[in-house]
Amino acid sequence: MTARVEHLVTSGTFSLDGQTFDVDNNVWIIGDDEEVIVVDAPHDADAIAEAVGDRTVVAIACTHAHDDHVRYAPELGERLSAQVLLHPEDRVLWDLTHARHEPDGTLREGQVLEVAGTRLHVLHTPGHASNHLCYLLEEERTLFTGDHVMQGSTVVINPPDGDMAVYLLSLNELLNEPLDWLAPGHGFLVAQPHAVLRALIAHRGKREAKVLAALHSHGPGPLEGLVKAVYADVPPVLHGVAQRSLWAHLLKLQGEGRAVLDADDRWAAASVA
Ligand SMILES: [Zn+2]
Repeated sequence: MTARVEHLVTSGTFSLDGQTFDVDNNVWIIGDDEEVIVVDAPHDADAIAEAVGDRTVVAIACTHAHDDHVRYAPELGERLSAQVLLHPEDRVLWDLTHARHEPDGTLREGQVLEVAGTRLHVLHTPGHASNHLCYLLEEERTLFTGDHVMQGSTVVINPPDGDMAVYLLSLNELLNEPLDWLAPGHGFLVAQPHAVLRALIAHRGKREAKVLAALHSHGPGPLEGLVKAVYADVPPVLHGVAQRSLWAHLLKLQGEGRAVLDADDRWAAASVA
């Protein structure tokens, strides 16, 4: 029997920097009637345990340790007698939710998990979280993207853990992978992955151009002032979140020598020598 992909949606909350949001998370279950790998452990341990049934769980593979992806990982690990696996350096995030439980093992770029006669490749895709992982099911040309790519919304890049420059590099690297489908942590399956990835990269490029234009027209200025100019197309209620992304763009431009931060926390375009 070849492996199949099952899916359930769980509902709960996601907390970031003291704010809490309602959110639906996907759980992806890859395997056959005998054994499975579970990707992420959000919101509802009972529902996930019921979906797994009496099958052997080879691993609970976490994409990253934001609380909406790992909330029930230790409990499920115990209930399902399964190893919880995570990038070792994602412990910084993990400890915010599970200071008293350690993950059972680590996963790094290039490792391969085997389940039900098929292979799941581990890809390191930093950016949304500094040690985010995606999982490629070679046989189905399907990539489990966690929050590296979401369906229906833009991924939050929240410095200092999130990093826009490496996020764009990670998106670009996925263009080299053989992909028919993206299976995100939030939302529906995504077809035409390469076209979607190119569109995401272009979207970030356009936003970066707006950031540079705002630095020239409004700079030097503080983040709070620049956000209105750069995100005029986004409702003001979202400007708090947008400000995190703006900061991520500015840090990328600073790293490239195209933006500078002065002693009064005001951003400006770097003067051309
Ligand atoms: Zn996340």
